[in-house]
Amino acid sequence: MAINWTEAQIEEVVASILKNLASETPAAKGWDSTQYNGRKLIGIYEDMNDAIDAATAGYKAVRAMRLEEREKVIAKIRELCRAEASIMAELGVAETKMGKVAHKTAKHCLVADKTPGTADIVAQAKTGDYGLTLTEMAPFGVVGSITPSTNPSETVICNSIGMIAAGNGVVFNPHPNAIATSNYAVDLVNRASAAAGGPKVLVASVVKPTLDTAQVMYKHPNIRLLVCTGGPGVVRSVLSSGKKAIGAGAGNPPVIVDDTADIQKAGKDIIDGCSFDNNLPCIAEKEVFVFRNVADELISAMLQNGAYKINAQQAAKLAEIVLVDVKNPKTGIVKKTVSRDCVGRDAKVLLAKIGVNVGDDVRCIICETDFEHPFVQHELMMPILPIVRVDDIDQAIDLAVKAEHGNRHTAHMHSKNIDHLTRFARAVETTIFVKNAPSYAGIGFGGEGHTTFTIAGPTGEGLTSARSFTRYRRCVMSDSFRII
Ligand code: NAD
Repeated sequence: MAINWTEAQIEEVVASILKNLASETPAAKGWDSTQYNGRKLIGIYEDMNDAIDAATAGYKAVRAMRLEEREKVIAKIRELCRAEASIMAELGVAETKMGKVAHKTAKHCLVADKTPGTADIVAQAKTGDYGLTLTEMAPFGVVGSITPSTNPSETVICNSIGMIAAGNGVVFNPHPNAIATSNYAVDLVNRASAAAGGPKVLVASVVKPTLDTAQVMYKHPNIRLLVCTGGPGVVRSVLSSGKKAIGAGAGNPPVIVDDTADIQKAGKDIIDGCSFDNNLPCIAEKEVFVFRNVADELISAMLQNGAYKINAQQAAKLAEIVLVDVKNPKTGIVKKTVSRDCVGRDAKVLLAKIGVNVGDDVRCIICETDFEHPFVQHELMMPILPIVRVDDIDQAIDLAVKAEHGNRHTAHMHSKNIDHLTRFARAVETTIFVKNAPSYAGIGFGGEGHTTFTIAGPTGEGLTSARSFTRYRRCVMSDSFRII
C-alpha cells in the first residue's frame, strides 16, 4: 500500500530522526573524541582523507623499521595497554553504558599478554632438485579497520599489534558510540610508538566516524585491506566494497549440556562465561540446551553461582522491553531488534525494568523457554540466558545448530562423552568450539592459544593474528641453495 505523505510530514519525520540521532552522538553526551582530561589525543583527524594520509606515513615508517624495532614498539604498546587497562575499562563503561569495569580491565590485560607480535610472521622454504623457493608473509599496506562498540579499545589495540607486527599501517573507523574510548586507544598506540623510537603518528582515526567516512575508507586507493569487526550489516558492506576484506561478524553461541557432564562445574562455567562483561563478547554463551534428566541440577548449580530465575510471564515482559520493533525504511518490513538501551547492561538493571529488585550478586538472568522463544533466536548481548530442555543428543544438536543460525562463529559443550562432543563439533562447524569451560577459554582466557577480538568466521581467517593481515609472496632461487 502506497503512503502519500506531504512534504511537511516528511520534513517533520526527518527532523525528528535527526534530533534523536544528534542526541545520541558522543559530542551531545559530552564525549570528546579528541582529548582525554585536557590531553590532546594523537592521530585523530577531522577528515578521513587526512587520517588515511597519516596512516600511510605510518606504514612507510613501519616498512623502514627493522623487525627488532617493530617489536620494541609492540612491547611498549603491551606495557601501556596493561598500565592503562583500568582507565580504558572505566572510559568504555562510562561512554557506552555497557559492560563491567573489572571484566574490561581483564580483557585489556589479555590483549597485552596474548596478542601475537612479529613471531607470528614466519617464512616457508621448499628445497628440491630445482633449488630453493621461499614464501614470505608481506604487508598489504594501509589497513582500514572498522571496530565495534562492544570491545572498543580492546579491538583497536589488538588489531594494531597484529597489523603493525605484519608491517602494515592502520586507519580506524570506530563505532560512533564508543569513539572517545576507541580514540584513547589509538592515542595509546601512538604514544607507545613515539616512546619506542617509532613515528609520532603510527595509526590514525577520525573525530566523528560515520557511514560516509567508512565509504571514503572503502574507496581510497591507499587502503589495500579492509577488516571489519561488527554485526551482519557492516560485514556485508565491507564484503561488497570490491576490496580484499576480512569479516568478523555476529554469533549466537549455543551451549549443550548432556548427562555425562560435571553438572556443578557446567552450571558455574556457563554463568561465568555468559555474565562476563555482561555478555558483550560475541563468543559468550547465548542459549542452553540441556538434557531433561539433568536440567534441574544444572539450574540449581546456576542459581548457586549468581543466576536469578524468572518465570514465563516475566520472560515475556522482559522480551517486550529488550527487543523492539524496528521498521526498515526501504522495505517497510518491521523486525524485532535488540534495544540499545539494554545491550550490555547489568542483570539487576534489566530485572528492575520488570519490577524485580536485586543486588549486585545477581550476575545473570535465567529462564526456561521453548526453542522458538526470541531469547533463543536473537543475539541479545546481555546477561539473559534461556534454557531449553531436550530429550537426547539428536534433539540437542539439531536445535543448537539451528539456533546458531549458520554464523559458524562459536559453540560450547559440557560433556564427557567423546562421541557427543565430536558429533556436535562436526555438525555446528563453528570457528570456536569450547569443551567443558567458560566461553572465554576460547579466546585464550583460561585456555591455551593466542587471543583476538576479531574472529573472522565469514571470511575464514578464524582467530585473526598478525599473519591474517599479510599477503603471500614467493621468491625462487633456481638450481642453488639446496645444501644437502
Ligand atoms: P555494529 O554492527 O553496530 O557496528 C560495527 C561498526 O560498523 C561500527 O563502527 C558502526 O558504526 C559500523 N557500521 C555499521 N553499519 C555500517 C555500514 N553499513 N557501513 C560502514 N560501517 C558501518 O556492531 P556493535 O553493535 O558495536 O557490535 C556488536 C556486533 O558485532 C555483534 O553482532 C557481535 O557479535 C559482533 N562482533 C563480532 C566480533 C567478531 O570478532 N566476530 C567481535 C565483536 C563484535
